[in-house]
Amino acid sequence: MREFEYDLFVIGAGSGGVRACRIAAGLGARVAVAEERYFGGTCVNVGCVPKKLFSYAAHYRDDLEDSRGFGWTASDIAFNWDTFITNKDKEIKRLNGIYKAILDDNDVTVFQARACIQGPHEVLVEGRVVSARYLLLAVGGWPWIPAFTGSEYTISSNEIFHLPALPESMVIMGGGYIAVEFASIFSRLGCQTTLVYRRDKLLRGFDEEIREFITAEIGRSVTLILNDDISKITKNNKGLSVSLNSGHEINCETVLVATGRRPMTANLGLENVDVELSATGAITVNAHFQTKEPSIYAVGDAIDRIALTPVALAEGQIVARALFSLEKQQMQYDNIATVVFCHPNLGTVGLSEQQAVAKGLDVDVFNATVKQLKHSLSGRDELSMIKLIVDKQSDRVLGIHMVGPDAGELIQGFAVAMNCGATKADFDRTIGIHPTLAEEFVTMRSKRESHA
Ligand code: NDP
Repeated sequence: MREFEYDLFVIGAGSGGVRACRIAAGLGARVAVAEERYFGGTCVNVGCVPKKLFSYAAHYRDDLEDSRGFGWTASDIAFNWDTFITNKDKEIKRLNGIYKAILDDNDVTVFQARACIQGPHEVLVEGRVVSARYLLLAVGGWPWIPAFTGSEYTISSNEIFHLPALPESMVIMGGGYIAVEFASIFSRLGCQTTLVYRRDKLLRGFDEEIREFITAEIGRSVTLILNDDISKITKNNKGLSVSLNSGHEINCETVLVATGRRPMTANLGLENVDVELSATGAITVNAHFQTKEPSIYAVGDAIDRIALTPVALAEGQIVARALFSLEKQQMQYDNIATVVFCHPNLGTVGLSEQQAVAKGLDVDVFNATVKQLKHSLSGRDELSMIKLIVDKQSDRVLGIHMVGPDAGELIQGFAVAMNCGATKADFDRTIGIHPTLAEEFVTMRSKRESHA
């Protein structure tokens, strides 16, 4: 049998890649990884982690404003961009070190270089060809910006974390996760923020009623221009002039384009092997994450599934275990909870009302719009919404949706309940925790009720 230098060669030390390295090495495999950019990938460096830190920074404005109604006054309060960015960068550097340490501690050979596939078992890295029984492509994604005049003046979510100063004004293009999260963040940091989106409601793909609600909530702090799109950007001595299809013009300092991300599969040497790509450049894999080339696997944002960190972690783990142990697990894509970290958060797990109906299910919808107790004194006119989709026949809860503070912390637990097959009757016999927003989930008795 042919002798390989490594059992597994992973390209990309992001969430999926590092998890696969760790699990495979722990199972006794000889593992190597190539990473040309930063340890921890998008999530740690230009994604989830710094975004959440930005979100915390932004939330202090709300907290400070809300505290007045509770008797607090504060003077000399100001936001210092340099302090925040310096502290954020320090934390990201620490996390980069942790990811590198995971690899070192598990005796994974690390090539801090670009790797290019030469054949089904061969990779060119640092000027030499390395062989491995299996290759795992965990190369991630990259922001995609549509072509229009002046697009070179825009920035993406890669640059937003490293701006030299807080812009006075920003236009954001797009209505998905990144656009909505950064619109919330920058509006609260004191930047005049305008979001331009080509549809009538933000966050296509989420429950329609939740979309309508979050669009109204975001509209309280962000200037929303809907059913419109950027056609051209020109630079002048005051900054950028953004032209919209409607003829509308906006002057601003910075334009953030958040129109999706694409797999980073270019110049990877895929022409040397039998790996197929989708129209958007995603690597095509089977249910076991195997490409058409039997020795090559792929996970995470590089494939055409769900581009979320915990999904990449789970996929990387499944591949490593399947290759180097007897544990063969199937990835479950149903009921994956997700949160948009806008203000207020939007959390969801399971089916939207529209998805349930499209599946031909007969559903009951329980729905409540709530004003949080805190805001009776804060004076903030923010509302929260919760919504349950219940299968009439089985009484099983099919979808849980929420717009409200800390939705991420809340929805995670409800996702466990859903995965255990919770019914509406299970929710009803659960005693609430009073006074919380969470208790609303177990006290909804009638359909589409509103007690705002
Ligand atoms: P999304 O896919 O979420 O949103 C892309 C947005 O860009 C949509 O509103 C889309 O509009 C719009 N768009 C696409 N093409 C064009 C175009 N040619 N002209 C104008 N608008 C356009 O992508 P994001 O970039 O926001 O985020 C990428 C992915 O990263 C997410 O899908 C998610 O998987 C992940 N992510 C997850 C986060 C989390 O878990 N909290 C946070 C950030 C990112 P339309 O709806 O009309 O197609």
